[in-house]
Amino acid sequence: MDFRNADSKLLDKLDLNKTVKVTKIFTFEMAHALLAYDGACRNIHGHSYQLHVTLAGEPLQQHGHPKDGMVLDFKQLKALVKEKIIQPYDHALVLNVKTPDEVVLPLKKVYQKILLKPFQPTCENLVLEFVNSIRNELPEGVKLFRLKLHETATSYAEWEP
Ligand SMILES: [Zn+2]
Repeated sequence: MDFRNADSKLLDKLDLNKTVKVTKIFTFEMAHALLAYDGACRNIHGHSYQLHVTLAGEPLQQHGHPKDGMVLDFKQLKALVKEKIIQPYDHALVLNVKTPDEVVLPLKKVYQKILLKPFQPTCENLVLEFVNSIRNELPEGVKLFRLKLHETATSYAEWEP
């Protein structure tokens, strides 16, 4: 008997759904203001955001392959989310593009990382923006299962396809 592939053969025999979800949690600091909002969030202020990225797929069963046993290497997921979300948004000020010029222009003279978005920068809209920026970057066979963005410890927005 050949024991070299014993593990993957054992998994093949298991009569179960082999889709596994993997999650990596990221944190970043971001300021925003909600234009015309009727509460404290209309002022420029910041949050320590926590982003939970959950992928779904079947772990690779290929003896000797460097990614054997993985849905997607956490290292690859980290690099993708860093490039598409963390680097642009960490320590940025995110404002609605409809914010008046007399507010935005003086800020831009002093501060560099100001992002003007064609939407209100709520937790909900940011989740949609983040989904859009990573969903099509995943390798074949790996799906974005859920994206959850915590604005505070007790408030979060969540997307599922
Ligand atoms: Zn806020």
